[in-house]
Amino acid sequence: TKDIGKTEPEFIRSFQFENKLLPLTWVVVRIDGCHFHRFSDVHEFEKPNDEQALKLMNSCAVAVLKEFEDIHFAYGVSDEYSFVLKKESELYKRQSSKIISAITSFFTSTYVLQWGEFFPHKEMKYPPSFDGRAVCYPTYNILLDYLAWRQVDCHINNQYNTCFWMLVKSGKTKTQSQDYLKGTQTREKNELLSCQFGIEYNSLPLIFRMGSSVFHLKEAVAVESGEVSGKKLKGEVVVHHCNIIERCFWEEHPHILS
Ligand code: ATP
Ligand code: ATP
Ligand code: MG
Ligand code: MG
Ligand code: MG
Ligand code: MG
Repeated sequence: TKDIGKTEPEFIRSFQFENKLLPLTWVVVRIDGCHFHRFSDVHEFEKPNDEQALKLMNSCAVAVLKEFEDIHFAYGVSDEYSFVLKKESELYKRQSSKIISAITSFFTSTYVLQWGEFFPHKEMKYPPSFDGRAVCYPTYNILLDYLAWRQVDCHINNQYNTCFWMLVKSGKTKTQSQDYLKGTQTREKNELLSCQFGIEYNSLPLIFRMGSSVFHLKEAVAVESGEVSGKKLKGEVVVHHCNIIERCFWEEHPHILS
């Protein structure tokens, strides 16, 4: 029999493949809860939207922005969060597997650590996990279109889910509610909510309709003993529920990504 340990370390290392993200592009790492349909059932999340669960997600995202200074913006809805790294970032020399795994595991451990703050009377029944992926966006416009796509998704899903759960709560089965909503347009769904259930869609909380955007407030210049030091400080991390599809948000906050 041959002995183990005869292969040159150099040769062993050569099997690792390069996984560097394209330089000078905006890297978006999107994480998503694994089987959160089940996780939300087991932990009795309110349907369609459990506000505490969303606030826990937001708090984890704030922690991620504080931990990884190259992340300049994040957008979250449901069990997902997109983290945008500045395009000059050299985090982990842009190795995608390291970037994805470090962000995803930091988010996940924070979720577990902070669970009790948001659900003081609910025991966590089993450990949640999140998957992650990274995509490079080469231009500012495509990046903004990516973020707009996630917010459109938030809107469409929220409107559907709000109708679906109102129908279920009014006594229909899940299948009946699904069939009822098949093929309905935005306007019909708004009419259903307003006529049958007295809900004005546009008066539902912003966090449900807009998702959550996380970013640093405009950076402030540090002032030390009367002298202006060159050091730039980042502003505090905030969570806003704003429209990021409209261009004006980005024009009003040029420091975030451009
Ligand atoms: P996958 O592992 O493929 O992502 P999933 O079950 O997580 O499967 P998603 O498409 O990611 O499916 O959808 C997440 C699901 O988690 C939603 O459909 C919803 O049922 C539930 N969910 C997530 N966040 C909340 C919340 N804040 N309130 C209520 N339900 C939620
Ligand atoms: P990086 O983020 O680059 O991985 P690191 O500080 O984690 O940096 P590693 O090369 O992964 O560096 O080494 C892990 C270090 O963690 C060890 O050098 C040791 O100091 C410490 N460590 C890990 N496990 C143990 C352990 N069981 N007992 C004592 N120290 C440990
Ligand atoms: Mg998934
Ligand atoms: Mg999921
Ligand atoms: Mg999801
Ligand atoms: Mg280590």
